[in-house]
Amino acid sequence: MQTILTDSAEEAADFLNCGGVVAFPTETVYGLGAGICHPEAIKKVFRAKGRPGDNPLIVHIYCLEQLADVASDINSNARVLIERFFPGPLTLVLKKNLLVPDSVTAGLETVGIRCPANLVAREFLSHCSCPVAAPSANLSGLPSATSWESVYEDLNGKIDCLLRGKPSTIGLESTIVECSGTLPVLLRAGAITLEQLRAVLPEISVYAVTDEREVPKSPGLKYPHYAPKASILFYNVNETVTIGPSSAYIGLSDPPEGVALFKICKNFDEYGRELFSFFRYCDAHDIKVIYCELPANTGLGRAIRDRLLRAAGRL
Ligand code: AMP
Ligand code: MG
Repeated sequence: MQTILTDSAEEAADFLNCGGVVAFPTETVYGLGAGICHPEAIKKVFRAKGRPGDNPLIVHIYCLEQLADVASDINSNARVLIERFFPGPLTLVLKKNLLVPDSVTAGLETVGIRCPANLVAREFLSHCSCPVAAPSANLSGLPSATSWESVYEDLNGKIDCLLRGKPSTIGLESTIVECSGTLPVLLRAGAITLEQLRAVLPEISVYAVTDEREVPKSPGLKYPHYAPKASILFYNVNETVTIGPSSAYIGLSDPPEGVALFKICKNFDEYGRELFSFFRYCDAHDIKVIYCELPANTGLGRAIRDRLLRAAGRL
């Protein structure tokens, strides 16, 4: 299959409206979209990524009026979060509307819904004739794609169209909050922080698997994620480590002596934005070990910590 590269949101939407799969930029990471009214295209998304069929897709909407097409019950907690954080990097898990096919939700009675803020994503979605189911636009298991070049690297020849935009400004996947029950639960940390969520919904809890036999609330949590080919090790600036050849470092502190490549980030915003592209850069340069500074579980540090632990196979 030939993948058409375009800078036109309208042209990209034409591909989607004809049953194609289209990668598009968002503020979190690039997404790989299919119209929820195109069942064959939904299957193609899973195939192109190599994504397990039991890992549901997030449905992207353009405006709040579309909420009624995808969710069947929007409770008061959900309303508070929508009012405060939509459009933006927040996904809400709500009871699904019958119009959303089981292939999108992997048979769950709930659906993840997001309304992106990125202007190119919004223009693209505004031209799409139905809501757009879209996981991250990377091969399953690899670091998410935060630039169109990374999407191209993973998916050229496997998707119909790639809408080129700027690199993602956040660089980490959306915060996910389960909001279909009476008590809201944070399922995945992201740029909307737990502290921000608690400022409007103090009762929100943080999901943690307490028993390995339990089916995770968010099916994606059971799969390996975000991993570069290089091994991930954690680095604490107060420790002395012996650095082997072909090692790299990313974090806020100064790098350990002897690394071949490093990225010092000014703050967590930059750390989050650069993390996945740095992983990919390291793989392209045959780095074997990436030392990463592990942030504490506060603010945006929580999301970065989560991705690092998952990339290292420690969650
Ligand atoms: P990705 O699209 O790669 O960011 O992955 C989407 C994430 O959203 C996965 O971890 C899914 O398990 C999660 N997700 C999507 N829909 C639901 C849902 N209905 N309930 C719980 N988690 C969901
Ligand atoms: Mg993903």
